[in-house]
Amino acid sequence: MKSVLGAWFTVLTASATAFGQTLDLTQYTIVDLTHPFNERTVFWPTATSTFTLNREAWGETPGGYFYSSFSFCTPEHGGTHLDAPLHFAEGGNSTSEVPLERLIAPGVVIDVREQADAHRNYRLTRADVEAFERAHGRIAPGTIVLVRTGWSRFWPDRERYLGDATLGADARLSFPGLGEEATRLLVEERRAALLGIDTASIDYGPSTDFIAHRIGAAQGVPNLENLTNLDRLPPRGATVIALPTKIEGGSGGPVRVIALLPAERSP
Ligand SMILES: [Zn+2]
Repeated sequence: MKSVLGAWFTVLTASATAFGQTLDLTQYTIVDLTHPFNERTVFWPTATSTFTLNREAWGETPGGYFYSSFSFCTPEHGGTHLDAPLHFAEGGNSTSEVPLERLIAPGVVIDVREQADAHRNYRLTRADVEAFERAHGRIAPGTIVLVRTGWSRFWPDRERYLGDATLGADARLSFPGLGEEATRLLVEERRAALLGIDTASIDYGPSTDFIAHRIGAAQGVPNLENLTNLDRLPPRGATVIALPTKIEGGSGGPVRVIALLPAERSP
């Protein structure tokens, strides 16, 4: 009976599409997963610049109307941003080349707050992913997998967020990330579209080999880093939309990330 109903729904949906019905956004709650860019935006300790907004015009013009404009400058890898595969794979997709199918997709949220609170250099394990799947079902190919550590609550306090506010290569970074085996499972076996996290990097703070970045980049999988508001998403059921500025040849860049939740599923 269920499959007959399912078939009917498919037919109904297909005919609705054929008649040009569009996405009805009143049926969704929209959640912003993006930190604002400003003078407090957290950048990697070795970044040679930070986000700057320069006022180029402001005020009433001779024509009698108000006019303002700014220019901005920012490293690619600070604030809420995308890592294109080119970040860790020569020949990988650059920012402008990442397929939109990887940037607009169903999202799941794996919650490791408890583990990260117990150990700030915690790395997502294969067992964590398997436990998620036992509770919420198998992660389908093409899914955006977000890891919730709870770290966005420390933003933009560099000391608490990064583990060390020191600038330069000597910073002793300490925050949670994704372990190698979990990353292989998500990227190579589950064929995730994209990996995201609410810390500064998908590799944990002390990492020196950036193995999670390298595994994903080799398979064309981009990352989202410095996400926020993951507490407002259900474990599954959201649609994630992450659109970076289309920088040709870039290795990443600022991105506005939002999630659409079916209205009745908002926690
Ligand atoms: Zn990055």
